[in-house]
Amino acid sequence: MARLKSVWVYHVDAGSCNGCDIEVLDVISPYYDLERLGIKVVPNPRHADALLITGPLTRQTRIGIRKAYEAMPPKPRIVVAIGTCASSGGIFYNSYALYNTSPERGRDRLRSGGPEMVVPIDMYIPGCPPSPEEILYGIAQLLGIKEKKMHGEYWKALPPGEEGDGVSFTIPERPLSLRLWITLRDELRRVVGYYDRDAVLDDFMKLLEQAQKDENPRERLHDLVTGYFLKEKDSRVKVAMRFLEETYWSLVDEYGEWGESLRKIGKSART
Ligand code: SF4
Repeated sequence: MARLKSVWVYHVDAGSCNGCDIEVLDVISPYYDLERLGIKVVPNPRHADALLITGPLTRQTRIGIRKAYEAMPPKPRIVVAIGTCASSGGIFYNSYALYNTSPERGRDRLRSGGPEMVVPIDMYIPGCPPSPEEILYGIAQLLGIKEKKMHGEYWKALPPGEEGDGVSFTIPERPLSLRLWITLRDELRRVVGYYDRDAVLDDFMKLLEQAQKDENPRERLHDLVTGYFLKEKDSRVKVAMRFLEETYWSLVDEYGEWGESLRKIGKSART
């Protein structure tokens, strides 16, 4: 990037825990004095050359982030992701509150996340949170004042059993039953949050175990869930059980497409 003499920046929070925001505030305080590098924080994206984003991009903030990006002048329109959350979704990467378009959500796969799902990112400054010095160092690189000390390599994640060109690694295979359980647990969080999630899932897995002993597990599971449904008084739990039943079979069908051996998953769920 060409040397930039002065950059006006606009800071947006895409759902951070505020840890990164505090560090950004620190950087603009007189102690670190960001303005000595020619950087000025502005209150409006229309005046900004660069957008500083903190946080993992929630479903609520995605529209605001996109609008802020579009409101900026077309050039240089730099976007800096500050913090691990803004770089990849961080510890919140599989949260139900986040915006995530990946079809691999909850399926024991590496996923992309963070604001890069709605805006192109020019610079990542990872850290949880990054220290003010790290943020300054990143911004100094952006301005062309400092050279990069380290150079990244592009690593590509491949599904088990596949080989690819260049630098790649294979995601370790996990037992399918475990993968199913993890996915159900992830998906259930979207429906009931943390409210009794594990208790509901445990009940469902017990019903599933019973259903697997039957010749027609799909019908048997449906009957068992209906019985549970009629006895249960809490409507949230009822909805969660029906959701688990539907999600379970859609996952079995989906995973089943990967190969015949995977079709046996229904027989060994959470062994
Ligand atoms: S990177 Fe860490 S400090 Fe920053 S928003 Fe995420 S959790 Fe908070």
